[in-house]
Amino acid sequence: MQLHTPTLLLVNLVVTLALGVSMGVVARRARRDGMVWWAWAMVAQTLAFLLLGLRGQVSDWLSVVLANTLMVATFALFSEGLCEFQHRRPRRWLIWTPVLLLLAAQVLLLDEQRIRPLLSNAVMVFQAMVLLQLILSGRRERPGRGQYFVAAGFLLIVLALLLRLIAQLAGWVDLRQVTESNPVHALSLLMATLIIVIVAMGLVLMSKERADALNRNLALQDELTGLHNRRSIQRLLDQQLAMLARGRRPLAVLLIDVDHFKRINDTHGHLSGDLALREIGACLLGRLRGQDLVGRWGGEEFIALLPDTGIGGARKLAEQLRRAVEQLQAVSLVGKQMPLTVSIGLCTRVPDDEATREDVIALADRALYQAKQNGRNRVEEA
Ligand code: GH3
Ligand code: MG
Ligand code: MG
Repeated sequence: MQLHTPTLLLVNLVVTLALGVSMGVVARRARRDGMVWWAWAMVAQTLAFLLLGLRGQVSDWLSVVLANTLMVATFALFSEGLCEFQHRRPRRWLIWTPVLLLLAAQVLLLDEQRIRPLLSNAVMVFQAMVLLQLILSGRRERPGRGQYFVAAGFLLIVLALLLRLIAQLAGWVDLRQVTESNPVHALSLLMATLIIVIVAMGLVLMSKERADALNRNLALQDELTGLHNRRSIQRLLDQQLAMLARGRRPLAVLLIDVDHFKRINDTHGHLSGDLALREIGACLLGRLRGQDLVGRWGGEEFIALLPDTGIGGARKLAEQLRRAVEQLQAVSLVGKQMPLTVSIGLCTRVPDDEATREDVIALADRALYQAKQNGRNRVEEA
């Protein structure tokens, strides 16, 4: 079967332009998630292929020099977008030097029909490898599978370019005329179309997966303190209790209530009160161990789940937290000292326990009430 190269080129142009324009329409510069760069990359690639296709009909300055420069600029634009998406500073010399070098080489070697295409191919292989490295580094810290589509796309680019490089070196076909119907051109164009679809889909998936993860986090985070919110900590408590029932390890729960917080609000204002809550939240988080979980239970109440902690350890940790808050040098919005203390109700459960979430909270709450009764700024056990 002889594939008609100009038709394949036209399909490629239409597909790439459509993807680029769609991405451009949904991209927002302010969001800084790489999409604006990617949209431009696709537009640049469309132009590059268009100019390559016009070889012989327009001046070589357009169909050779500009076309090849746009082609390598496409890779640079993709790299910029990826760096922006990953919030890492782009290594501009690595990204843009190949573009400038290739531009210079195209001008100097305009009449070198054999070396010029080899050179642009080699540069693009290098750029595709840089992109592959960018997408694959730190992939485990990023959520989702979209990045693997993009990686597969870049890998295919490397393969396609190597194929062309070999075809060129072996002298199988004359690769200078892109619209000539030969198997290497046809295969390259088919692959280019497939690649741009895979990469675009991967990039869009990556953005979507990032947004989903962000929303999930927001739904589980307390807005004021950044700690787990009530819904999140309830879920975590259920998980811990399920593990407890399976007889693995003890669990301690601390219910922490700020003493006379109404007074803080009345004396320093609600906004300073918010500031105090944020400071207490940060203080608790800072004092707890890596495995511990801390959330805002509501109003001026916090809760800490201490996995693998028996009564002795829990008592010690609760006392440390109480003292840490007492020693906090919180200041109000107008710079006044805000003395803060907390009362803590402590409840520990041993393995094989069948306690429900409600039981545990009720017990900790009762201990907290005792702490308030006994004069505040103290720890009591259930
Ligand atoms: P106690 O020692 O008995 O716990 O006294 P308290 O004043 O801390 O307890 P009370 O339950 O009477 O008052 C809690 C106060 O916490 C009342 C409420 O306005 C305040 N509060 C609850 N949520 C917030 C918040 O998000 N920001 C601020 N600034 N205040 C809050
Ligand atoms: Mg309270
Ligand atoms: Mg209180």
